Amino acid sequence: MALMPVAEALALVLRDASPLPAEAAPLAQAHGRVLADDLAALRTQPPDDVSAMDGYAVQAEDVAEAPARLKLIGEVAAGRPYDGTVSKGEAARIFTGGVMPRGADTVVIQEHTSRVDDSVASSTVVVGKPTPKGRNVRPKGLDFRTGAVLLRRGRRLSDRDLALAAAMNHPTVPVHRRPRVAVLATGDELVMPGTTPGAGEIVYSNGFATIALAKREGCDVVDLGIAPDRLPETIAAIRRASASGADILVTSGGASVGEYDLVQKALAGEGLALSFWKIAMRPGRPMLHGRLGAMHVLGLPGNPVSSYVCAYLFLVPLIRRLIGRTDIERTPEPAVLGADLPENDERADYLRATLAPGPDGSRVATACPLQDSSMLAPLARADCLLIREPHAPAARAGSPCAILRLDP
Ligand code: AMP
Ligand code: MG
Repeated sequence: MALMPVAEALALVLRDASPLPAEAAPLAQAHGRVLADDLAALRTQPPDDVSAMDGYAVQAEDVAEAPARLKLIGEVAAGRPYDGTVSKGEAARIFTGGVMPRGADTVVIQEHTSRVDDSVASSTVVVGKPTPKGRNVRPKGLDFRTGAVLLRRGRRLSDRDLALAAAMNHPTVPVHRRPRVAVLATGDELVMPGTTPGAGEIVYSNGFATIALAKREGCDVVDLGIAPDRLPETIAAIRRASASGADILVTSGGASVGEYDLVQKALAGEGLALSFWKIAMRPGRPMLHGRLGAMHVLGLPGNPVSSYVCAYLFLVPLIRRLIGRTDIERTPEPAVLGADLPENDERADYLRATLAPGPDGSRVATACPLQDSSMLAPLARADCLLIREPHAPAARAGSPCAILRLDP
């Protein structure tokens, strides 16, 4: 099988992935979830003309000139409207959010008034400053009106969106079900962090990044741990993934053709519909994709950097598609090279690079000097992946380039 270009591979991954069914999520649990439907306002906000300040509700003609003396006839607090009418020569005490009483069209702020208590039963408000008509009044529907679609399907709900949905009077929102991602590592040599590796053993690392990435993208994760390099155990782990109801199985390691690379063999025996297993990219050539029934399978390479970059480039868009997002693919951003780069070969290169501000406001991307796909220190230090297209010519420091930002 020839190496597949990255864009073609991504198109295959996304080809028969569609958003998961919708469910109603209570607002308090909806942060970061993706709307499965447009959300229309169930009420008008504010529902009436209301005061924007603490002060006095009056008729504008009465306060066109100052000083003006008005008779105090009542009080409106937020949530307690006033039943009467403000007529010429009258004022009603009003507080922020209070519904404008009938007859009143303007609010004079408290700071521009003084009170004269004529008797126990009667007070006069002296307005010391002219106030134009409509001042300090929020008109009904200023924010939105019933039926207005304010949040669109496909939107990942932000903290602010939750406040808006609440104000629109939705106790729950229709969101796509969270994808379930099963994560399986393979390798006889892997031991958990905190243990003392024996001869030839290495510490398992890449699942920690994959799991965190999947969770940040809004998935529930089933951690299947480490399968040894034996066919029965690998098959058993794949079956555990299916039994867990996973929408995506992500394996790492064992995806190439080494004697111990059993992932593809095990998946094939289980009936995998394979779409590809070699991509024209670096890091990460041996990456596998296919379907096992309804479950999407991504076989990431074992090397930690390859595994991360492939998860970033393929798992994230797949999750975003399943979770219903419309902003699926990350757009490369422009930068300038901080150091010369040699001509590229037939594989797209995703170089780990740091970003720094340039003298003219540009962003300077400098590739880490060592790009070995086993090296986690430069990956953690990197701010972005610097993209080198297949066969890109040698490029000098200062020339334009394209980057994909890594999330902090
Ligand atoms: P493989 O594709 O299984 O041959 O793995 C390639 C390289 O990545 C080997 O050096 C493995 O030891 C290493 N590797 C595989 N899986 C992991 C893992 N989960 N964490 C860290 N290193 C791994
Ligand atoms: Mg292995």
